[in-house]
Amino acid sequence: MIIAVDGPTASGKGTIAKALAAHFGLPHLDTGLLYRAVGRQVQLDGGDPDSPADALAACAFGDALLEDEILRSEEVGGFASRVSVHPEVRAALYQRQRAFALQPGGAVLDGRDIGTVIAPEAEVKLYVTASVQERARRRWLEMTGRDIDIPLAEIERDIVARDARDINRADAPLRAAPDALVLDTTHFGREAAIEAAIEAVRERLG
Ligand code: C5P
Repeated sequence: MIIAVDGPTASGKGTIAKALAAHFGLPHLDTGLLYRAVGRQVQLDGGDPDSPADALAACAFGDALLEDEILRSEEVGGFASRVSVHPEVRAALYQRQRAFALQPGGAVLDGRDIGTVIAPEAEVKLYVTASVQERARRRWLEMTGRDIDIPLAEIERDIVARDARDINRADAPLRAAPDALVLDTTHFGREAAIEAAIEAVRERLG
């Protein structure tokens, strides 16, 4: 069984995907991490994230980079959002994600284009979303918890910019697959959102 979990940044899709993987005993891939690694590698190379050639060269990042905590920073998230616009980058990362989705027994993948591009045949597709204000608040709480001092307004501006880039790019834009179940977590706490997602998967599976 393939479970595709898509949605904008800080919507709760990562938390939900991890919980679904644990509940249904499936391996999980956070595909955003791959784009973050490309973004970080461009930065390490002193390249330009808006240059398709620089971004493509960075797709050869070493796997150890995926473990680096710095990938979770807002700065690297911004770089990831810029490199992910290039079709060359998306093509370079396609096979790795596709192979993960097709492994025997199935998998849970979260990202922006899992249900539309990477695994359109997924048995279950969830599109997890929440208001910009709520997503900014969650991200701010998470950063504050990590002792990172950043104004809420700056996070909100960043989220709006990343949403716009993800939604408006020509190649694999962020959108719910027509057969995706939309889960708005704005008024849900963590546990309630996970519960709703598990219930949605059960329903889909009949
Ligand atoms: O989900 P996360 O915030 O870690 O993703 C970082 C960036 O990578 C996103 O803003 C998005 O532009 C890009 N991304 C993507 N396709 C995916 C996963 C992430 O374009 N499947």
